[in-house]
Amino acid sequence: MIKETTILNFIKKIFPRSSKATHNKIEKSDTENSLRIYSRSEHNISRSQIGENALKVLYRLKKTGYEAFLVGGCVRDLLLGCEPKDFDVVTDASPEEVRKVFRNCRLIGRRFRLAHVHFGREIIEVATFRGSDDSDPDDQRVHEDGRLLRDNVFGSIEDDVWRRDFTVNALYYNIRDFSVLDYTSGMEDHSAGILKLIGDPVVRYKEDPVRMLRAVRFSVKLGFKLEAACEQALIESCSTLKGIPAARLYDEVLKLFLSGKALQTFEMLRHYGLFVILFPQTEHCLAELENNFPRLFVAKALENSDKRISQGKSVTPYFFLSAFLWESVQILAKQNMAQEMEKSIAYQNAARSVISTQVKNITIPKRVTQSMREVWLLQLRFNQRVGARPFKLLSLPRFRAAYDFLLLRAETGEVDTELAEWWTKFQDVDEAEQKKMTRPLRKNQKSKKPALKKEKNENSIDSNND
Ligand code: ATP
Ligand code: MG
Repeated sequence: MIKETTILNFIKKIFPRSSKATHNKIEKSDTENSLRIYSRSEHNISRSQIGENALKVLYRLKKTGYEAFLVGGCVRDLLLGCEPKDFDVVTDASPEEVRKVFRNCRLIGRRFRLAHVHFGREIIEVATFRGSDDSDPDDQRVHEDGRLLRDNVFGSIEDDVWRRDFTVNALYYNIRDFSVLDYTSGMEDHSAGILKLIGDPVVRYKEDPVRMLRAVRFSVKLGFKLEAACEQALIESCSTLKGIPAARLYDEVLKLFLSGKALQTFEMLRHYGLFVILFPQTEHCLAELENNFPRLFVAKALENSDKRISQGKSVTPYFFLSAFLWESVQILAKQNMAQEMEKSIAYQNAARSVISTQVKNITIPKRVTQSMREVWLLQLRFNQRVGARPFKLLSLPRFRAAYDFLLLRAETGEVDTELAEWWTKFQDVDEAEQKKMTRPLRKNQKSKKPALKKEKNENSIDSNND
């Protein structure tokens, strides 16, 4: 199979397509096109590291007479000795042929069909090699700004390799002889810890600006250095991220900030001018008040969620999203209040407005924006510490997240730590003590109890008058 496609590529080289049709395709230079095969003894991927279901799929395809490879992130991660998130399989079988091989298989996607092989809750995604459409002389797959609009043609492994993003993501583990196929010197880059785009970085970012986010994500995740040309092109191309539909960016943003290395990712996205495109309101606040509260607050929130992930605890998208936009909500709420708007209405309006601005860039699902709103608005109620109100607040489903948010505010000096400590204690003590804590103060008792300290930060929204 490989020999046939090599011959085909040779013929393609001798008879190149018209320049219009190929203007956006990667020129396969001789060096880039040289296939290097790493035999089993030359790499460290062992079958014992590969998921049982992925192995079943690979073996079954092979047994039926098809080519079958692991490709992408799983090969890259296995080479690093890490456990892959999932296993992606590629084959020369068409999706319909894959379906015939597996009973537990569903085809998904309308244009580029993929096969999903189900094993209980685990899904192994099987893709057919992607190729380029030589029958399309005008190459209408490409938008005038260089973005790739369609990528839905089947091809050979030698076509497939050039459609992938980074050299380290284009390594194919062959189930036939357990070798690794490398067309792009990905193995060398992998050992050197270099993240390098296949082909001309400017063209590749233009084709799909999400690759810039992937560059940052992989660089942080793997601890790899961006190759100089890739880095330069990233700096030049960052504004093209604006052309990406908001709906596509939500999942990418989750991958960036729920990775366990959110703080480092945040710094790198800011460094390359990508963060401002994702979260313009946040960047505006950060730029205005650099070295002041918002920067500290966002950084603390991300540090906190990284710590939770490292402890195996859960993290939710709405938590970091509400932290990103909190400063913007406060600024707007204060403006509303300056126009005589009642405090809670001022905050509700501010929350609505900040969210509707944000969703122009990133489509955040309604259930998530609803939770963000709740976390923000519950902050207004933490100073109500008398009578039944604290008990009511404690019983709300979003209390815990709002309380964690309050701790962050206290940690960064936005509210008095005494307030946070009171709520920590209120959750710890028994009911009798809770009743004592929430008892109204009699006039002559007032001096014995520690007076509530005045809020430290003028941005604070808590007040005893709520
Ligand atoms: P991880 O799953 O750890 O996030 P990954 O590299 O496997 O990393 P996926 O999104 O699962 O990422 O994609 C699988 C493979 O598909 C990639 O390794 C890459 O070869 C290819 N790929 C994914 N997205 C793109 C893209 N935008 N442009 C080019 N190739 C891509
Ligand atoms: Mg993957």
